[in-house]
Amino acid sequence: MTTPPIYVTRPSIPPLSDMLPLLTQIWESRTLTNNGPVLQRFEAALADYLGVAHISLVANATLGTVLAMQQAGLTAGEVITTPFSFVATAHAVRIAGATPVFADIDPVTLNLDPAKVEAMITPQTRAILPVHTFGTPCDVDGLAEVAARHGLKLLYDAAHAFGVQRDGQSILRHGDMSVLSFHATKVFNTFEGGAVIARDHETKLAIDRLANFGFADALTVEAIGTNAKMHELSAAVGLAQLCGIDDVLARRAAVAQRYADRFNGVPGLRCVCPTGVKGHNHYAFPILIGPDCRVDRDTLFVHLEAENIFARRYFYPLISDLTPYRSLPSADAAGLPVARDAADRILCLPLYPDLEPDSQDRIIDLVLAQCG
Ligand SMILES: *Cc1c(COP(=O)(O)O)cnc(C)c1O
Repeated sequence: MTTPPIYVTRPSIPPLSDMLPLLTQIWESRTLTNNGPVLQRFEAALADYLGVAHISLVANATLGTVLAMQQAGLTAGEVITTPFSFVATAHAVRIAGATPVFADIDPVTLNLDPAKVEAMITPQTRAILPVHTFGTPCDVDGLAEVAARHGLKLLYDAAHAFGVQRDGQSILRHGDMSVLSFHATKVFNTFEGGAVIARDHETKLAIDRLANFGFADALTVEAIGTNAKMHELSAAVGLAQLCGIDDVLARRAAVAQRYADRFNGVPGLRCVCPTGVKGHNHYAFPILIGPDCRVDRDTLFVHLEAENIFARRYFYPLISDLTPYRSLPSADAAGLPVARDAADRILCLPLYPDLEPDSQDRIIDLVLAQCG
């Protein structure tokens, strides 16, 4: 007997009945995109929910990061970033026109290590682009100090960090700008979408213009913008999603806690993300497979797959090992020992709000049978 497949994530969607009034409004207004009324409502509601003042909604985080880079003047020179991320982080640097430089990560948080960042600074360095990996906040103070000491811009890839707080405040308040992703697989989704969080209204307006071909008004184009607008359907999904997001976050926390309760103290594996910490969003449930586990990460991965459980090896391979980046000097494995070790041992287990306790117990039992 085969059990139904369990994937690493399952997108959250709002009740269809919550969508219908919004769809009716869109159909009646015939405004489909270009800063429509639903988008304006969503933008205001989102700023309120996140506790940040200046948000530009965009089509996705990849384009949002490109625009943030462009607005910050990062169209040349070097940008120090992490190899332990989704490939879009480095792609955005490249598409904007700058060169990514990889620095090593911290072995506990798996986020950029400020000291390793500082060691990679050259006269060409213009900015730092860290990632709040798996929703765990970066060392924002350490990174801000390095950026200030060397006169660098600090832009955060906050694709994983929806709703994350530190000391009761949004993590998105740090750095010059932060970029959220609302892709289907993220904690909060608009099917596809994203947002750029800026420090001031001027920057928000500049991002809005860049997302709309650079139009300043009907007759004036001041910059080479692209088309990165969010349309009204995505904004409607976003508005409806906001109503349920606290429930989604609470359920994710409960699933994460159920894993942690069984895994904490098992010598063969380490849970990467903290549980029971206020302000974490439980973006994922990554574990690091250690030498005390009877099998290695890939063996465990294949073993789970044979049981119809599709964990994911995030982030493996490192971005620095992918074809467009492997020839960069900073991609040399010798300079990235912590990231390399994490990439070889990481496994993200299924985590989504409606993961059934019985299914989760089966996953836990299978992992412990290999690593317990
Ligand atoms: C998902 C993701 C992105 C890209 O987001 P899109 O909205 O799909 O463009 C960028 N960086 C990280 C770390 C991601 O996980």
